[in-house]
Amino acid sequence: MITLKVQDLSKNFGSTEVLKKINLEIEEGNFLVLLGPSGCGKSTLLNIIAGLETIDEGTVFIDDYNVSEVEPKDRNIAMVFQSYALYPSMNVKENMVFGLKQSKTSKEKIEEQLKKVSSFLHVDELLNRKPSQLSGGQRQRVAIGRALVREPRIFLFDEPLSNLDAKLRVEMRREIKKLHQTLKTTVVYVTHDQTEAMSLGTNIAIMNHGVIQQYDTPENIYNKPNNTFVADFIGSPSMNLINGQLAKEANNVSFIPEGSNQSGKVSLNNYNFVKSPQESGNDIYFGIRPEHIHYKKTNDTDFEVNLRADLKEYVGHEQIITFNYYSQEILGKFPSTVKIETGQEMKLFFDLSQISVFDKKTNKRI
Ligand code: ADP
Ligand code: MG
Repeated sequence: MITLKVQDLSKNFGSTEVLKKINLEIEEGNFLVLLGPSGCGKSTLLNIIAGLETIDEGTVFIDDYNVSEVEPKDRNIAMVFQSYALYPSMNVKENMVFGLKQSKTSKEKIEEQLKKVSSFLHVDELLNRKPSQLSGGQRQRVAIGRALVREPRIFLFDEPLSNLDAKLRVEMRREIKKLHQTLKTTVVYVTHDQTEAMSLGTNIAIMNHGVIQQYDTPENIYNKPNNTFVADFIGSPSMNLINGQLAKEANNVSFIPEGSNQSGKVSLNNYNFVKSPQESGNDIYFGIRPEHIHYKKTNDTDFEVNLRADLKEYVGHEQIITFNYYSQEILGKFPSTVKIETGQEMKLFFDLSQISVFDKKTNKRI
């Protein structure tokens, strides 16, 4: 069952087009992450779903009802903001039940919900404290609790973890995941953090400049990026996008890296082209993630190259090495235990089962 549907949604602020014909559907119980760089329109989209922002064109449906004109309080949704937006003069209990009191819920029901949610979120010891007497993580729990007591149809989160330090962020991320696993409520979650998106989402809509670039599972976003924006945005370090040409012969398709004078031909015969390669242009990017360049052969189809290591970055459990590939810089990622000397050539293997190929003109996957 589709819980939320956004259809042909557009939004302008003055002459700035912030959202351009957004289409999204989310099944009941799924966790949708809106991911993209700052300013791409994520919060605007979330606010429109919440009813806090008006629509210029298009429609929002919740459970098949057109809610585009429905007041936020009547949409059966609850929102958790980055700033938590707790009332400073109220204690934790008052903050948590405020919404229920407003909606004239009975005293018994309020007490029941408060008890259930505060023990679930481990804030039952904090009910009499003011927000100023809480740590960042505790405030975040209270903000989530305030949304939870209302048992909404959909939870909306806008960058709820970005004010927390790195360690707490990872802990709270896990808590949110557990919460979703237990309650199975539909969630729409905004973040600019790819790790948060990948680890939390059942589906990710990756946005840039008000346009959805790909709406897919985390696995497909990582393994089969639709275009160079998605390829570059996901992964750390980013996918190597190597310049070159597509050589199309009768029974063979291959990649010729720029500057290799035909000698560096890489066979693409086992690559799963989206459409016939004959239909695409000749200028392409050969995309390979740093973790798919191996220091020893792992597959029969691995392609062997000899590359000079120019730079070594040690990052604890792994090392990032910059190589020179026909004068193009490419990065490889290896365990720190592998001994690598800079300034020397080493034998490497491109895992051709993990590559992506993009048309340079359109930046689309081919
Ligand atoms: P994100 O949440 O992805 O960082 P936003 O949705 O907040 O992006 O903003 C998208 C764009 O819309 C930005 O360029 C921002 O400056 C602009 N914007 C957001 N809200 C308003 C507003 N109320 N008035 C004018 N411009 C706005
Ligand atoms: Mg935002």
